[in-house]
Amino acid sequence: METILLLAHTDAEGALPKAAFEALAGAKTLADGLTGSALLIGLFGGQIQAAADQVANAGASKILGVAGADFSQPRYASDAAAAEALAKAVGATIIVAPATSRLSRVAAGVAARLGGRVDTHVTAVAVEGGAPLLRRWFYRQRMEGAFQRTQRPWVITVDPGSLAPWASASGAAGSASVETVAVTLADSARRTTVTGVQSPTAGEQTIRPDAKLLFVTGAGWTKNQADGKVHLEDAATLIMGFVRATQASLGSSKSLVDLSGSGQAVLPFLSHLNQVGQTGATPRHPKGLSTCCHGEEPHVVGWRFVNERRAVNLDANCGWAQGKADVLYVADAFEVMAKVNALLEEK
Ligand SMILES: Cc1cc2nc3c(=O)[nH]c(=O)nc-3n(C[C@H](O)[C@H](O)[C@H](O)COP(=O)(O)OP(=O)(O)OC[C@H]3O[C@@H](n4cnc5c(N)ncnc54)[C@H](O)[C@@H]3O)c2cc1C
Repeated sequence: METILLLAHTDAEGALPKAAFEALAGAKTLADGLTGSALLIGLFGGQIQAAADQVANAGASKILGVAGADFSQPRYASDAAAAEALAKAVGATIIVAPATSRLSRVAAGVAARLGGRVDTHVTAVAVEGGAPLLRRWFYRQRMEGAFQRTQRPWVITVDPGSLAPWASASGAAGSASVETVAVTLADSARRTTVTGVQSPTAGEQTIRPDAKLLFVTGAGWTKNQADGKVHLEDAATLIMGFVRATQASLGSSKSLVDLSGSGQAVLPFLSHLNQVGQTGATPRHPKGLSTCCHGEEPHVVGWRFVNERRAVNLDANCGWAQGKADVLYVADAFEVMAKVNALLEEK
């Protein structure tokens, strides 16, 4: 019999991140499929009551919480202590958590404290042959592996964007009664204080993991165009005009983000965080549109989870044409995006 704990933290407003509802869906799949198992929810953060209400109707037999100012900030010592206490309070054998930066940081440490094992970046959760069967990708998303474990406790972090999030049938929050778990922190656990967040890009936020569309820019935007000249300002206006109008997430090829490092003229709103590919990110948007990017394998491997792919490139023989895109528009991206932006503006 498994005791399955959905472990999650609240955000600054006391709500649960979307990824927590996805992990909850995974925990419920296990609880529904494993005979005689129990589902519990453990929450920690500055405030947790509103979050507990959000999952009150999820079918958990109990909701436990560690709350207070000590747990409001993302901090290894207090987050790990809270997670450990919640897991021990219920004797959890399987702990399912969202792979937020906060929980990813402590997952392995919590597994070690519990004498258990951890598996991260899980993208699918199922029950097969009466036991949990998980899937994740290896070798920069090139191979998918399915695996089981006999060791317990078993800490599992689920990658955001992998599972359909759980939602209450009525769509409304319930009213939860939360069992408080007391955690006494050592003074040393309070040594770290978050004083602010420094982001590498000083400008506006362009990485939107929940956006329906990934808009990718390649080095072509900075190359000499038909008139023999570079049109960086036009490129910046077209790209940001489209991203602002559609709220798409902005991705980039490595060549384009590397230009700043080599001192060339660059698009100032791009950083390595925007890079998609083998040495960049592997985002999970339903659709992707690539512009001025050649579509080489080390880049396209980062599109592994983008379901519908389109590209605009002047070159009919570019990588996208080699079976990597569903649709390739052989066209000038400057002209195409100017027209698209005009249509968006009309709308
Ligand atoms: C170990 C390793 C890891 C790597 N990891 C990554 C990675 O994580 N991500 C990544 O992106 N790359 C990665 N690369 C680099 C990758 O191989 C390519 O070099 C890179 O993706 C090329 O970027 P690009 O397509 O933007 O530039 P380019 O190859 O210069 O292509 C520019 C394209 O723009 C087109 N173009 C120009 N003007 C226009 C226009 N007006 N309209 C339409 N199209 C136009 C051109 O036809 C051309 O196809 C890696 C390479 C190695 C060796």
